[in-house]
Amino acid sequence: MPITRDGALDWMNRFAGEMSEHRQELVALDTAIGDGDHGTNMNRGMTKALEKLDASPQDDPGAVLKTVAMALVSSVGGAAGPLYGTLFLQMGNALAGQSEVDLPAYAAAWRKGLEGVQARGKAQPQDKTMVDALIPAVEALEAASDLDGGLRAAVQAAEEGMKATTPLVARKGRASYLGERSAGHQDPGATSTYYLFKSAAEALAG
Ligand code: ADP
Ligand code: MG
Repeated sequence: MPITRDGALDWMNRFAGEMSEHRQELVALDTAIGDGDHGTNMNRGMTKALEKLDASPQDDPGAVLKTVAMALVSSVGGAAGPLYGTLFLQMGNALAGQSEVDLPAYAAAWRKGLEGVQARGKAQPQDKTMVDALIPAVEALEAASDLDGGLRAAVQAAEEGMKATTPLVARKGRASYLGERSAGHQDPGATSTYYLFKSAAEALAG
């Protein structure tokens, strides 16, 4: 089953739900190696995104993602707002005008989103950021032969990438100010990215 407008809306509703449910967890992770606002930031941004989605009809999955991007950029400060804003905007642009999105188009959109995040934030693999969850998950989608299998492989890859941030020393973002002391803590942004793939699998896999 390809991804439709309603599927994309379900995905964003579930992601907003995860950000609300796991707000404290993300705050605790960001308190350890940052300024403690990641859960609050993401929950506020996704609450705004749902308000905007409710307020105006969206034609297709790309339009849904672009609306979310605008809401995040306008309501979330710090690093994560612009980075997630870029992710969703690049994905939305890549999917523009497609009412039914299949696996190759979806994987290509994620690749564009990842490229946007890296162009904006300059993070490389192993820098202990959301990129460490994104890269393996996008690669899993690209390697898949069907959408359901790809979504399930991606969430597993994102989870492994998230967990693998724990021993890393941060080289980007606020956590990098801690130097070696950032090691031993899971990255908050990689954790919210894992929830983004988890909600995608729940909403979009059959
Ligand atoms: P801030 O760091 O401004 O308080 P958040 O706490 O909301 O913003 O988000 C922190 C997360 O943003 C980090 O855990 C990391 O995953 C991600 N991040 C920070 N800087 C970068 C970057 N340059 N590239 C990619 N991701 C980044
Ligand atoms: Mg923070």
